[in-house]
Amino acid sequence: MPLIKENHSLKNLNTFGIDVNAKYFVEAHHVEDLQAIFESPIVKEQAVLILGGGSNMLFTKDYEGLIVRMNILGIEVEQQDTEVWVTAGAGEVWNNLVSYCVEHGFAGIENLTLIPGTVGASPIQNIGAYGVEIKDVFASCEAFETATGLVRTFSPEECGFGYRESVFKNELKGKYIITSVTYKLSTKPNLKTHYGAINAELERRNIQQPSISDISEVVAAIRVSKLPDPKTIGNAGSFFKNPIITKAQFDSLFQKFPEVAHYPAPNNKVKLAAGWLIEQCGFKGVVDGQTGTWKNQALVLVNHGHATGDEVYRFSEKIIDTVQHKFAVNLEREVNIF
Ligand code: FAD
Ligand code: NAP
Repeated sequence: MPLIKENHSLKNLNTFGIDVNAKYFVEAHHVEDLQAIFESPIVKEQAVLILGGGSNMLFTKDYEGLIVRMNILGIEVEQQDTEVWVTAGAGEVWNNLVSYCVEHGFAGIENLTLIPGTVGASPIQNIGAYGVEIKDVFASCEAFETATGLVRTFSPEECGFGYRESVFKNELKGKYIITSVTYKLSTKPNLKTHYGAINAELERRNIQQPSISDISEVVAAIRVSKLPDPKTIGNAGSFFKNPIITKAQFDSLFQKFPEVAHYPAPNNKVKLAAGWLIEQCGFKGVVDGQTGTWKNQALVLVNHGHATGDEVYRFSEKIIDTVQHKFAVNLEREVNIF
């Protein structure tokens, strides 16, 4: 049975750098650890929260329960001709897996370079960037059912993936712990370079026939130039989701704001760039006490050093209200609030 610690600091375990404690804290290195933890009396009395890299979380107070940090490691590969199945433990650092795949010529996740966090969290919000989402390469995952201690396999259909969504964030929230994920990759790249920033950077580097390694490097360079590094400025990436609205809603918005940044979304809907909406409300680079928005991307809320989670949350409410007032569009938080 792994050691359960009491009153454990989470300051270095969440990328916002919020200074809070967990009443109880334990690390799981194997599925058997989860079995032992979930049979222990503490679990019967406490709320349980699974922690990966803490890069999609905002703690507004101390966590009055048990935090289980996922540390299950390992990468396994099965290859048949050009098809490659890569299985990784939930605790593997996501970007280490991306680097491993790029180095071995396994294509499919190069656009997801430098996303912080763990493999186990990758299906939770169906992570995505630069036109690629986990659902595009997801083959299956293994998950520990907290109520029974049994491990079950989820197919892509069973995960109910949507835009930054899955069943694990919704109807199955708290019921399963992802222990490993299998991705279906390929040695024959099908490059996705349609995001303007990628094309512009490829052009700037004079790369006409990019490899997956070029794409990974270009994505890394764009991200480093645009996003704050959580090691120096606490943040959890995009704080809000890009709103997906109906065509009718969009038409009326477009009449008032013809310059509105938008992209087509499935089912005849329209995706708005939340960062643009926030910027138009005058929030880009704003400092509000110890919190604020990032100077290069208004969608990213930051901790200037000593912000409390509550302060960041209240600032996010201000943004939601202002965007609602100006554009009649509802911003939803992407970051998980605890
Ligand atoms: P955590 O923050 O630790 O957890 C997130 C949620 O998942 C919590 O509810 C937690 O309980 C649950 N969870 C974690 N692991 C498991 C598990 N094994 N089983 C069950 N539940 C689990 N996201 C994107 O989609 N695209 C981006 O481009 C992107 N860029 C980012 C850039 C920066 C600078 C930062 C700080 C964040 C960014 N994010 C992005 C958000 C974040 O990195 C991802 O959502 C990531 O997948 C979170 O992983 P994590 O391990 O840190 O999860
Ligand atoms: P950006 O390039 O400034 O674009 C703004 C928004 O417009 C993005 O959010 C993106 O939506 C959308 N967009 C841009 N080009 C598009 C295209 N060709 N087709 C469809 N949608 C398009 O965005 P950014 O902030 O620098 O982020 C770049 C990428 O990294 C985005 O994919 C973003 O999701 C991802 N990212 C995510 C997080 C996070 O925490 N979730 C943090 C940083 C970066 P999408 O977001 O739907 O792609």
